[in-house]
Amino acid sequence: MSAVTQIDAWTRHEGEARVRQAFAAAFGADGPEPGTWSAPGRVNLIGEHTDYNGGLCLPIALPHRTYVALRPRQDDLIRLASAQEPDGLRELRLADVAPGAVEGWTAYVAGVAWALAAQGLPVRGFDAVVDSCVPYGAGLSSSAALEAAVAVALDDVFDLGLAGADAEPDDAGRTVLAAACVRAENEIAGAPTGGMDQSASLRSREGHALLLDCLDSSVRHVPFDLDAFGLALLVVDTRAEHALVDGQYAARRATCEAAARTLGVQSLREVAPGAGLATALDRLTEASDDPATAVRRVRHVVTEIARVEALVALLDAGRVRECGPLLDASHTSLRDDYEVSCLELDVAVEAAREAGALGARMTGGGFGGSAIALVERDQVGQVEQAVAQAFAVRGLTAPAFLVATAAGPAN
Ligand code: ADP
Ligand code: MG
Repeated sequence: MSAVTQIDAWTRHEGEARVRQAFAAAFGADGPEPGTWSAPGRVNLIGEHTDYNGGLCLPIALPHRTYVALRPRQDDLIRLASAQEPDGLRELRLADVAPGAVEGWTAYVAGVAWALAAQGLPVRGFDAVVDSCVPYGAGLSSSAALEAAVAVALDDVFDLGLAGADAEPDDAGRTVLAAACVRAENEIAGAPTGGMDQSASLRSREGHALLLDCLDSSVRHVPFDLDAFGLALLVVDTRAEHALVDGQYAARRATCEAAARTLGVQSLREVAPGAGLATALDRLTEASDDPATAVRRVRHVVTEIARVEALVALLDAGRVRECGPLLDASHTSLRDDYEVSCLELDVAVEAAREAGALGARMTGGGFGGSAIALVERDQVGQVEQAVAQAFAVRGLTAPAFLVATAAGPAN
């Protein structure tokens, strides 16, 4: 038997107590008490590498959250600490935040304040401490959880009026906050991101998956309660991180953009599956610099968007047990056509299926991170065992697991 590691979610009470305690340790007991806010990581059910193609994706917010304790300042100083970053207190001025000017993790926090201020919103400096149970780099979007927690905190303390009340979240306002988080990540942290993660963290509803249309940022909340069907969504953090990821992401994006230009469309969303796709692939074969690559990438994007629609139709119809083959097809497409899988993801997916999963696929950008499997609730333990065993026999770093339910948004 292989040992099985679980990634536990903190209760809200636990998260808030931890971050308050860390705030007192960083800033002392003097001065006003901070408020606390939190935001979830996410896992994407289907629709991978579709966000930057104007496509559809279907994430859920995780019960795993990033907590922030924060109090506003009268000046423009930003003072920050994170329990995950043991380099002590960091200080910078809001006026000094600019692309290329902020190093490391503080860019994700200061970047949100910068992006909101850049829109003319009345954001000043603040003291803040962060603590989180969202693992880094597991493809579960710890970066967006951090940005979103800071965004709702700043919205509250500076009375921006964008997030809305807990009982009645303001989706239009949250779309503005999500856009600021995307700008923070792209322009200040310098990390490419298509926008799914920030919307998932800010705009999800508990008990629902978020159908996000990346063409116009519109959303629909699709009921998602696997428990009611005797099922569970198992997430496998492969603990794999491969080099060259940034370049690979940029290359995929560039190929898609070039293909869209060749096809004379704004985004690949305009290419219909079926006959439309066949015509598009013929055109790319004739007119692309590297036709074989262009064909594979475009085929993934177009068929993946169709799979999102098919999965949503099954969920809407209560045919949740029939979703497995769509997950499997998504994985095959990401592995063979988009070429963003890796050994660990393939091993996790295959071992989960062999142990009884109804379907499984890599999730997130790829080259490491996490896989998901749709599993009978009473088979979760056996699937975890089988995946852990498959990693052990190949000498891979032991994976970690969590069972995902659709949790609530940043607040
Ligand atoms: P992920 O898939 O987890 O989002 P990223 O590489 O996009 O992976 O983001 C991880 C980075 O986000 C970390 O390296 C760190 O800079 C920042 N980050 C995320 N969570 C925290 C946190 N709790 N404290 C400080 N920085 C964080
Ligand atoms: Mg991220």
